[in-house]
Amino acid sequence: MTESEDHSHDRLKQHFAQRVIHQARLVLEVWQRLQLAEWSETGLHELRDAVQVLQRYAERFEQTDHFLLAKDLDECLQQVGDNRGRLNSELIVQINQLLQRLSRTGLRHSDRLEHVVLPPLRKPLYLALQHPERAEQLVQRLEFFGMHSVVMDSANAFRSAMTERHPAAIVMDVDFSGPKAGLQLAQSIQEGREQKIPILFFSLEDTDTRTRLEAVRAGGREFFTGTLDASNLFERIEVLTHNVQYDPYKVLIIDDSRAQATQTERVLNSAGIITRTLTEPIEAMRHLADFQPDLIILDMYMPECNGPELAQVIRHNDRYVSVPIIYLSAEDDLDKQLDAMSEGGDDFLTKPIKPRHLIATVRNRAARARNLKARMVRDSLTGLYNHTHTLQLLEDARFLAQRDGHPLSFAMIDIDFFKKVNDTYGHPMGDRVIKSLALFLKQRLRKTDHIGRYGGEEFAVVMPGTDAVSAAKVLDEIRKRFAEIQFSAEPHDLSCTFSCGVAQLRADMDSKQLSQQADEALYIAKHSGRNQVSVFAQDDSSV
Ligand code: GH3
Ligand code: MG
Ligand code: MG
Repeated sequence: MTESEDHSHDRLKQHFAQRVIHQARLVLEVWQRLQLAEWSETGLHELRDAVQVLQRYAERFEQTDHFLLAKDLDECLQQVGDNRGRLNSELIVQINQLLQRLSRTGLRHSDRLEHVVLPPLRKPLYLALQHPERAEQLVQRLEFFGMHSVVMDSANAFRSAMTERHPAAIVMDVDFSGPKAGLQLAQSIQEGREQKIPILFFSLEDTDTRTRLEAVRAGGREFFTGTLDASNLFERIEVLTHNVQYDPYKVLIIDDSRAQATQTERVLNSAGIITRTLTEPIEAMRHLADFQPDLIILDMYMPECNGPELAQVIRHNDRYVSVPIIYLSAEDDLDKQLDAMSEGGDDFLTKPIKPRHLIATVRNRAARARNLKARMVRDSLTGLYNHTHTLQLLEDARFLAQRDGHPLSFAMIDIDFFKKVNDTYGHPMGDRVIKSLALFLKQRLRKTDHIGRYGGEEFAVVMPGTDAVSAAKVLDEIRKRFAEIQFSAEPHDLSCTFSCGVAQLRADMDSKQLSQQADEALYIAKHSGRNQVSVFAQDDSSV
């Protein structure tokens, strides 16, 4: 091929790739809309149409990943159709997994497009801030996280940008273009819009409730005061713009009547909620550990043990104190309902119940419980799992790995000479490095990996389904990339490295031994000169 042919070939590929990516984006948008409501029949049709177009484009343009995903999706949706439009837990899981994979594929350049520049898949972020220099600085920092943002320097510029292209979200200073003028500006652009654009308000000074109330009315989803931290902002925007895909809610139904349970399952499945039913309440604890539901629906009267008794047993376990328990029963004696609630229940729904009412109650309760749990188990600086929860996840993963005979690796990471960063550049700079590494790990590890902040500048990663060699390879890649980052600082920029120790679970090991081995490997990495990944050397005589 001549050089110019090569060039036009690339251009053609780029053009085709764009169409595939646009269509993938469309599929994801339909899916997002579905998740906000019940998965209506028309919604499912719309999804299937979009998927079929994607399949055709991807085939024609030789995008194998997209083609295969679209094909699998189409088959799942076909099954829903065959099932008279009815979803079940298995299909919900499958469809969600495929779409989540699609959302990741869509953002990546495929191997064969290495030389081709793809258009940014994401919409930009508009920054309407009072101080242009600060805004410019923020743009640069957001760029580091792969987020494209545009600075608006006047109300007019903002209005005209809005007519040209809608952003993914807006960061709006309440005082942009005049005292409290930012609030009015936000209000005016939201008017008459069916789908509001997420707005994150900012105020340099702490403000009163009245201002915050006005912000909420203008569609404000978040209110920041003081400083705008790029990684914080990035994470909030990811959530608001649904770039972070949540797994579907999981509900455990405990009811001795199979017929009643099936009816409840059907209603919840129709809204994309995964269910598991137990007709033997005595089995509850085992299924709680295995299924990890977001919420429990409990029958009041069962032969072996009644609902309130079971609720108390569940609440005795620290891990399940915050899982909402909702009674669903025909009991209409208010006193009995109140008694049941005082024994660890959160709500009481009386049968018969309208499907919409049941779905809304479950969704709201599950969402709040997840939110609460996220705050309990996460570290506030980085948003990663805290020490205790990381160990809990390691223990869960060990159980599953040994039960299913899958590999499991555990890695410990420690930033090198971190004390020097603090001493030379100050503690806030140290915090920035910690946060950046946290985000780096989140962006580059698999969704099935669990990342925790183990202590100050120490991290731990639980990697299910991964042997030590593959784990070390992935982490070594991350190590190299992390070392390349230049943090802007005075008197000169700085870069940081980390050391890492990896160990793999053996059949006869418990999770404590596993973490000790990872720790030993980390120790070796440190003493062999740092900035490296070391794998625990299994003594062969012990195998
Ligand atoms: P090594 O390469 O051996 O790991 O050296 P190091 O300096 O990184 O290790 P050391 O454990 O001696 O020091 C860790 C420092 O991390 C000490 C502590 O002040 C600092 N640190 C711990 N937590 C935080 C935090 O949340 N923020 C900041 N900025 N510093 C922290
Ligand atoms: Mg340390
Ligand atoms: Mg260290």
